[in-house]
Amino acid sequence: PAHEADGPTVTPPHGAARTAAAFHAVYGAAPTGVWAAPGRANLIGEHTDYNDGFVLPFALTDTTLAAAAPRTDGALRLHSGDVPGGVVEVPADALTPGRDLGWAAYPAGVVWAMRDAGLPVGGIDLHLDSTVPTGAGLSSSAALEVATALALDGLYGLGLDRQELARLTQRAENAFVGVPCGIMDQTAATSCTTGHALLLDTRDLTTRQVPFDLTGHGLRLLVIDTRVRHALADGAYAERRAGCERAARHLGIPALRDIEYLQLTDALRQLTELPDVRPLVRHIVTENHRVQQVIARLDAGEPRAVGPLLTAGHASLRDDFAISCAELDLAVDTALAAGALGARMTGGGFGGSAIALVEDAAAPEITAAVLAAFAAAGHTAPRVFTARPGPGAHRAA
Ligand code: ADP
Ligand code: MG
Repeated sequence: PAHEADGPTVTPPHGAARTAAAFHAVYGAAPTGVWAAPGRANLIGEHTDYNDGFVLPFALTDTTLAAAAPRTDGALRLHSGDVPGGVVEVPADALTPGRDLGWAAYPAGVVWAMRDAGLPVGGIDLHLDSTVPTGAGLSSSAALEVATALALDGLYGLGLDRQELARLTQRAENAFVGVPCGIMDQTAATSCTTGHALLLDTRDLTTRQVPFDLTGHGLRLLVIDTRVRHALADGAYAERRAGCERAARHLGIPALRDIEYLQLTDALRQLTELPDVRPLVRHIVTENHRVQQVIARLDAGEPRAVGPLLTAGHASLRDDFAISCAELDLAVDTALAAGALGARMTGGGFGGSAIALVEDAAAPEITAAVLAAFAAAGHTAPRVFTARPGPGAHRAA
């Protein structure tokens, strides 16, 4: 992202025309179209998406653009302006899950998932351009997958709806790339709308657009990209996920989502023989409750009251789910000490980004405080920028 806390907020330094021109330079002809899908930040509802629970992400104005044209010979030619190296070429009928294609596994996986579902998808020339930072917990992977899926939908006239696009792209990431993510990121990319956060019930995939207008209240949401990702992240995700599933099995329920907030004490008592999963259960149940509370406060026109819920969410992820790290804690603690109304880590954990709800007037001072604290601790300088809820995936040209 190009924007700093006190600078412009919705000016991605690329556009559909530039991406189309880059496609032409790579493939020697104009693309059929250009499709866009956004990155996302999750306001609240962390690690709830694989427990059939609730999440509340919103789309960033940072997007991935996919310029594409169909091919009649069944070849995939994949190119990204964001990674070094040339065009990756692979025949569509030679796609097999787990095949090591590097970054190209993400778009190739989308083609594979569609073909595996029996959809009439053939070859493609694809060029990607993105302003979503990769590996920052802002879901550059889902932005790439959904931009590719929307391009294929357009090129081959598939007529897929938003939910089908989300399911197919999640399957691409799970089964082809091999990342066991939930469905939040892909749904955020397909279904978010400008000026809203998206309530998603990950059990039945129903959604609700929740008005999320901070500008009218003199507020903003800062994203603090710590630019670190610790090696622990992948193993810890699998371990937390397995712990949540074990707890649900022991309780005889389909998923931790089935524990009501008022039943938490009772559920914890039934888990006395499984002390290691009790804090996981406490996080998931209280987090689902926090999602509902955040929505109630937004609906009531009281966005400032969301702050303490974000901060409580961070404490729960740090102490109960145990997936924070020094850089995330420093970002959150420093933002709060400098006057943020609330702050929390967001994403999978052990690095990536934190978010902070701040008064407009306080944003420069809070940003400076975070940068100074990271410098004093000897950490890499974080990237701090303002996030405004932007549009979901769409055709851009
Ligand atoms: P996140 O989704 O939080 O950004 P992931 O690890 O899930 O992090 O996905 C990041 C990976 O997705 C990158 O390492 C790269 O392989 C791929 N990727 C994302 N955006 C692009 C892009 N514009 N061009 C090429 N590869 C990309
Ligand atoms: Mg990702």
